[in-house]
Amino acid sequence: MPAPLAIRLRGVTKRFGEITAVDALDLDVEEGTCVGLLGPNGAGKSTTMKMLTAQAIADAGVTLDAILLTHTHFDHVGAVAPIARATGAPVYCPQLEVPVLQDVMAFVPWPGFGPYESWDPEHTVAGGESLELAGLTFDVIFTPGHSPGHVTYAVRGEPALFSGDVLFQDSVGRTDLPGGDGPTLMRSIASLLERFEDDTVVFPGHMGVTTLGRERASNPFVLQLADLLR
Ligand SMILES: [Zn+2]
Repeated sequence: MPAPLAIRLRGVTKRFGEITAVDALDLDVEEGTCVGLLGPNGAGKSTTMKMLTAQAIADAGVTLDAILLTHTHFDHVGAVAPIARATGAPVYCPQLEVPVLQDVMAFVPWPGFGPYESWDPEHTVAGGESLELAGLTFDVIFTPGHSPGHVTYAVRGEPALFSGDVLFQDSVGRTDLPGGDGPTLMRSIASLLERFEDDTVVFPGHMGVTTLGRERASNPFVLQLADLLR
């Protein structure tokens, strides 16, 4: 039996347009993580949460409408199977990375992690789709480089990107894992910077929430990118 997840809820929420982001659901996760979209208390609102457990979802009193995966590294999908089973929420997985989700432990690069359960996703995404979920429209954008099939979810009409391990506060996703590629990642970041406004809030897969404008102004990797594109 895997150890139960240790969870710490800080209980702070931030509002970005119609989206209430519980980025303070800052959980200590021992088993695995996932990003979920919750359709909760009231029309027109959604709660985004990351690093969830089925119990945390139940305790929060919300309904999970879908589980959107940006990519399938084990630290992002380790909890997908138990949460999908407990909630019945359909899983959307990047098409290129379905084999990873279907055999999670075969792709864990280091010893000492897991065991994590595999899952057959109900849906696949490749980029270019629009998903109608929880009263919101999500545009799916192909953003490879950190992993080969990585996607970013943009909430249409709201300044919000769920960009997994593409862009972080003052940093970018690593590219040394299988299928990673530095120039490809930087092209993905450039495409997000071209397409979205500076006030777009970036909910990354690690570290704090940031904005495209902040990273455009001070992220050393993005500044280097600007030099390259000049
Ligand atoms: Zn990753």
